[in-house]
Amino acid sequence: MNPDLTAQWTRIRDRMKLEVGEVEYRTWLRQMSLGGLDGDEITIHMPTRFLRDWVRSHYGDKLTALWRAENPAVHRVDLRVGAGSVSAPAIAETLPTEPAPAPAPVPASVARSDDRTDPRAEPRQADLASALDPRFSFDAFVVGKPNEFAYACARRVAEQPASQGFNPLFLYGGVGLGKTHLMHAVGLELSRRDNGRPTSVTYMSAEKFMYRFIAAIRSHSTMDFKDSMRSVDVLMVDDVQFLIGKDSTQEEFFHTFNALVDAGKQIVISSDKSPSDLDVEQRLRTRLGCGMVADLHATTFELRVSILEAKATRAGVDVSRRVLEFLAHKITSNVRELEGALNRLLAHASLFGRPVTLESTQEVLRDVLKAQDRRVTIEEIQKRVAEHYHLRLSEMSSARRARNVARPRQVAMYLAKQLTSRSLPEIGRKFGNRDHTTVMHACSRVAEIMGVDAGFAEDVELLRRMLES
Ligand code: ADP
Ligand code: MG
Repeated sequence: MNPDLTAQWTRIRDRMKLEVGEVEYRTWLRQMSLGGLDGDEITIHMPTRFLRDWVRSHYGDKLTALWRAENPAVHRVDLRVGAGSVSAPAIAETLPTEPAPAPAPVPASVARSDDRTDPRAEPRQADLASALDPRFSFDAFVVGKPNEFAYACARRVAEQPASQGFNPLFLYGGVGLGKTHLMHAVGLELSRRDNGRPTSVTYMSAEKFMYRFIAAIRSHSTMDFKDSMRSVDVLMVDDVQFLIGKDSTQEEFFHTFNALVDAGKQIVISSDKSPSDLDVEQRLRTRLGCGMVADLHATTFELRVSILEAKATRAGVDVSRRVLEFLAHKITSNVRELEGALNRLLAHASLFGRPVTLESTQEVLRDVLKAQDRRVTIEEIQKRVAEHYHLRLSEMSSARRARNVARPRQVAMYLAKQLTSRSLPEIGRKFGNRDHTTVMHACSRVAEIMGVDAGFAEDVELLRRMLES
């Protein structure tokens, strides 16, 4: 990749981040990756069709304008679904390193939408589903003690969908442990089957389900929405913890769910918590847990080594056992971070044509390793922030809403989102059982104020550095 392009791309991303704010950027734009320049057209890749469409309709013009300003040779921006052939720093940045994107503030986004996002204007079934990622196959999934049960259940569902006791299949486990991967694997396997007619598989995030449903309400097309949801053979909804608190969407989800199960269709659900811990209505909780519940446990050292071995082999790069063990020893949080580290290493090796050694590993991954060595907890963040603003620790979870208490609390939430891998609902819970939307609001508010108030921004940065050191 042309280094100039990469530098321009970095600047454009930074500009976008500034303009749209940290939260919006992370939700919609973080996963963009640069393809290349062909004539006067620059290609940018997005991981899913949903994200691609969203970015095209909401940020397409902005992206084009920024590119034109950066590089006069560029006249058009082509947004595509897929992975870009990105260079090392871009790879490291675009690999998801944290929980699934937070749900966007749905009603606001819908209110802003125009003709291009009107659900009636789009092809129905095709658009409902996000594309399945062919990389997430069963073959590419490395099985070990912590995930063998979930794997076996997923296999079983792929072979005999909607069989007794396995419907719904509810996969749960921490971030980056392979839930989405297994769901895609089931979907890929099933959509390959063809018993007289192809099996129709719909995979979507809970976030998208909500977005779709609310858009349908606004455009008075809920019947179409329901029909299209109920005409599938297999429905997979990822990250249902994000359905919490939205009564009407929960209600619709519940009915869709029942209709599909009654019609003998398979449902696969994923979540970061077990059904009984989900923050949803009791009847939905019961329904979700009534099939097979399989959890993915935290990885073991052995599994991490096997995963690294498999990925290095797939990439066709020979990495010594010592390096793999070093990584598996150092990076223990989840597979996504492990994979990110390995990819960065491989990209570095191929860019500079040097073999991967223990020394180069330590060098290339210095920042990652440092962050892993020191994991900040939400409690530490609360304590530091409270001290800094001369508040009692209990104010972090109190109900008081006076500005001098509420603002530091928001700062602590913001830092918790930035410095830990906790999900929004988890963070909310630690702050006096607040809703995840409150945390989301806190994050965007703090980012916004940091943009206009230099003193405040300095404070937050100082806190961050203290917590990170
Ligand atoms: P989750 O949905 O649980 O947050 P993902 O399914 O997105 O996690 O997994 C994160 C990354 O780690 C993906 O790139 C996935 O392919 C990879 N991964 C997770 N578990 C495994 C595994 N057992 N074998 C191979 N790759 C894995
Ligand atoms: Mg996932």
